[in-house]
Amino acid sequence: MEEFREQLLFLITTPLYIIIIGAEILLSNYHHRKLYSWKDTAANIYLMLANTAIELLIRTSYFALFIYLNQHAIYQITHPVVYWIALIIIQDFLFYWLHRFDHEIRLFWAVHVTHHSSDQMNFTVGFRSSLFQPFYRFIYFIPLAWFGFRPMDIVFIFSVTQIWGIFVHTELIRKMGWLEYILVTPSHHRVHHASNAKYLDKNMGMLLIFWDKLFGTFQPELLEKDYQPIKYGLTKPLEKDTPVTIIFHEWDSIRKDISRKDIGWKEKYWYLFGPPGWSHDGSRLTSEQLREAEDGFQPSTGISHSEKEFVEIPTLINVDSHQRHPQYGPDQNP
Ligand SMILES: [Zn+2]
Ligand SMILES: [Zn+2]
Repeated sequence: MEEFREQLLFLITTPLYIIIIGAEILLSNYHHRKLYSWKDTAANIYLMLANTAIELLIRTSYFALFIYLNQHAIYQITHPVVYWIALIIIQDFLFYWLHRFDHEIRLFWAVHVTHHSSDQMNFTVGFRSSLFQPFYRFIYFIPLAWFGFRPMDIVFIFSVTQIWGIFVHTELIRKMGWLEYILVTPSHHRVHHASNAKYLDKNMGMLLIFWDKLFGTFQPELLEKDYQPIKYGLTKPLEKDTPVTIIFHEWDSIRKDISRKDIGWKEKYWYLFGPPGWSHDGSRLTSEQLREAEDGFQPSTGISHSEKEFVEIPTLINVDSHQRHPQYGPDQNP
């Protein structure tokens, strides 16, 4: 029954994706907007295929763990409606934290960065997966199995919410009215993919937007006249767009940083577990520091331009800001 449910979902979503992607290509051509490129779309597709293969390969192992925990569950919701609603809400909450740590800890950013390295925004970017995320994503979902949710239901609901996670990757839908208050919408997710300082590491949710509002990572999309036009991708674009670069560039950058001879263990720790963009000498900036710089404060000092001579902040921004977002990044989606 559960397997049939998964297959049915696949049978429904595949033509749905083909239709919405086809419609987006037609509409973007009609409006003379270049929302697609062959090379970028090819990368989105091979990352999705490779990510699916990894997920299917390791699913058996974490399933065994989920089944064990489920058999020793500390709680069991018996009402079917409450069961499914609770599963959707709790899983979305756990995914929010997975996604947030992917952005705020460089070791995980090195995995998630692939999702953010496209400088375009279209439905296929939703398939531009964080390739190795399946290796640790299940850890976040362990509490679900322990609280009595069946392993197949956990995987099924994740697949269902990912459909929404893909749908939000578009420029063609501007605002969604009252749904903007409840769901993560295309407008919210455009902000998530933007490399403008104010937008970095914002709107981490997959389905519900109130986790971001609750935990301080919400940022609405602003009008161009009130801020800037959105710029998608990494703050420092990739030098090459080969599969090896797309997948491993941040790992390579981490390797170079932690093998430096002129820094101690503390600095090496921060290069690995600190926020992306952290640097021991200020040669790169974190998202927070980029925002401070944009707002007119010298990063890390809190001294405003009015209090101090106009320092070299523009230079700092141009530096390697965000190797993160060079390194500036669902599985399918978020
Ligand atoms: Zn996304
Ligand atoms: Zn992200």
